[in-house]
Amino acid sequence: MIAQDKLTHLPERFPYSCQWEITCRCNLHCVMCYTDCFNRPDAIRQELTTAEILRIMDDLAEAGTLELCLTGGEPLARPDFFRLYEHAIHCGFLVTVFSNGTLITEAQADRFAALKPHHIEISLHGMTRETFERIALGQGSFDRCLQAIGFLLDRQIPLVLKSTALTLNQQEILTIKRYVESLGTVRYKLGEEIRPELDGGTGPFQYALSEQDLADLNRQDSDLQRDACRRDSTEPPPCRSGMQRFHIDAYGQLQLCSGNRRQSYDLRTGSFHTGFFEALPTFACDWKTPPESSLIQLTTHHA
Ligand code: SF4
Ligand code: SF4
Repeated sequence: MIAQDKLTHLPERFPYSCQWEITCRCNLHCVMCYTDCFNRPDAIRQELTTAEILRIMDDLAEAGTLELCLTGGEPLARPDFFRLYEHAIHCGFLVTVFSNGTLITEAQADRFAALKPHHIEISLHGMTRETFERIALGQGSFDRCLQAIGFLLDRQIPLVLKSTALTLNQQEILTIKRYVESLGTVRYKLGEEIRPELDGGTGPFQYALSEQDLADLNRQDSDLQRDACRRDSTEPPPCRSGMQRFHIDAYGQLQLCSGNRRQSYDLRTGSFHTGFFEALPTFACDWKTPPESSLIQLTTHHA
């Protein structure tokens, strides 16, 4: 969120940006979702409690964390979501919320307006009810998502709308993008990455577009093509995960990033300071590119 060149005054290792998957709960079951495998009662019972999250948030604030992204699952599916959100704002974090939008009522939009986030990112899977709900597997989700977008726009809450390019929506991606452009100040992001499920399942990959389909899609729009060219032609910036960025999962495990959970430090039993400064530096990632390499680096994002 904050450009790396504005952060030169920070020590090389400083916990400034956190992505926190506060739950794997969700009211939807999107076909490409990687967290839905843990959206079941026995797993939900293991998730961090309200008190545990508030305590860890206080530790992050104490350590100097500036950016906090609350994601899921669907963060608003936690009954205590606004307690956590409002605490995060009062801690002084720049808070981003990743949401499917479908649980945002007018009253909740008012709560966001009263204590504004840095921005909210909502997944917009399609521009027809049929396509959206074939992906989200939730009846009525298309209308509720569009309604939430309207509630948030009415209150001037900064919004980003995003889609994952899939076989099910490839014909509607450009229509989604045009719709987002028609909203004026709203930014659009197209994700191309599909991930395995957290339990190792590979179901989401059956909806992945081929490289040829992705190239054909990008060629139809100058912004998409420019982004694709940039991804393919520039030296990737060095990965800051574990140095200035980190991830916490729904069970309090501190990790390098959401895409690499091979090693974890348990924040339920240990301190954030020890986890960040002593454990994370020992965690490995096969995909971190050395500075002299020209290999394209994997990006990570939430569907
Ligand atoms: S992708 Fe997001 S909205 Fe869809 S099921 Fe997963 S957590 Fe829910
Ligand atoms: S998976 Fe990617 S973002 Fe995560 S630590 Fe490895 S290189 Fe960095």
